[in-house]
Amino acid sequence: MNQNIETLCIQAGYSPKNGEPRQIPIYQSTTFKYATSEDMGKLFDLEASGYFYSRLANPTCDAVAAKIAALEGGTAAMLTSSGQAASFFAIFNIASAGDHVVSSSAIYGGSFNLFNVTMRRMGIDFTFVSPDATEEELNAAFKPNTKAVFGETIANPALNVLDIEKFAKVAHAHGVPLIIDNTFATPVNCRPFEWGADIVTHSTTKYMDGHASAVGGCIVDSGKFDWTKYPDKFPGLCTPDDSYHGVTYTERFGLEGAYITKCTAQLMRDLGCVQSPQSAYYLNLGLESLPFRMRQHCANAQKIAEFLQSNEKVAWVKYCGLKGDKYYELAQKYLPNGSCGVISFGLKGGRTAAEVFMKNMQLGSIETHVADSRTCCLHPASATHRQMTDEQLEAAGVGADLIRLSCGLENAEDLIADLKQAIDKV
Ligand SMILES: *Cc1c(COP(=O)(O)O)cnc(C)c1O
Repeated sequence: MNQNIETLCIQAGYSPKNGEPRQIPIYQSTTFKYATSEDMGKLFDLEASGYFYSRLANPTCDAVAAKIAALEGGTAAMLTSSGQAASFFAIFNIASAGDHVVSSSAIYGGSFNLFNVTMRRMGIDFTFVSPDATEEELNAAFKPNTKAVFGETIANPALNVLDIEKFAKVAHAHGVPLIIDNTFATPVNCRPFEWGADIVTHSTTKYMDGHASAVGGCIVDSGKFDWTKYPDKFPGLCTPDDSYHGVTYTERFGLEGAYITKCTAQLMRDLGCVQSPQSAYYLNLGLESLPFRMRQHCANAQKIAEFLQSNEKVAWVKYCGLKGDKYYELAQKYLPNGSCGVISFGLKGGRTAAEVFMKNMQLGSIETHVADSRTCCLHPASATHRQMTDEQLEAAGVGADLIRLSCGLENAEDLIADLKQAIDKV
């Protein structure tokens, strides 16, 4: 039965049997008991499925991962300790030292640093391409050792909308999967697998949790990428794993399970970036109301973007729901029901005006965070990016006047009244 997203958000991933708890229990246990060594041996050899140690798998985390897999329309998923861990694992599962990855340049700053500094140090090379690159420009970025393409549905904080179909087409022509960070859109507003993406990652810290209560991440596999067509490119999935008694993941777990099983069995085993069952429980509470919250975040952002656009002290507004925005057409295609609650804008008067505005906001608090129930704003030039000169800021796509506003779940009229009084003080 093909259920709608509101139903899946409530019901998917956990179905208690007779007399079992209605709400997902928090399995606050590191370990699980067995009667014989043989029983446990089978688990270690991946011959039987079951729990033995919460670094590798935990029933609470598995239920929540299964819910997110259902929301994205994937075949398997795993939770990670953070969005950073999800991005790292998603790539490191199929690329090692000596390999190369093509990534959109419009990505979260933490991801950019992870790729450009830390993963380079591990010997993985990256080529960054414009999110607006043509097919020819994308093709030119590939090398014989390219193993994946990476991009964000809606880039944080640049707010570009990615042409997922185009990126998928080029990735597949080169025999590699497209990995999409779907954090800002969430599966409520876009399901990248429907547009050809192969793997989806999330920082569940943002809208999925939605209440700023727990840091977390998730990786989902569509099960559609055929690794066995390129056994030389993906030996880790297509040849025996000596660290697991010679199991070949694609043979034992099929295309639907190979990628996530390998990621759990090797990367989680060795690197241990697990999400705690307690955090997974909070995440699940957030997921239950995700469709309703996304609707309100998007409706508020649309009204606020329109208000800002019509205010004479505002120099520019960036929001893909505004007609005339550079990404309006792509948003209509990929995000027809709404995009996200994050807007950026600049005031006439630049940096100084932004500073006055920030001082006078009352409902919107100053935070580096985005995408939770409370409205918050950030002026990067005087906070996160304050070491940079105006020229450096411009080059980073974060002008000295840029204000990032994450619209929460409050009443739009109250938010607009707050914005108006703060703008009036400029
Ligand atoms: C926040 C964020 C991340 C990193 O997630 P953490 O949970 O903070 O580790 C990755 N991608 C995007 C798009 C994000 O907004």
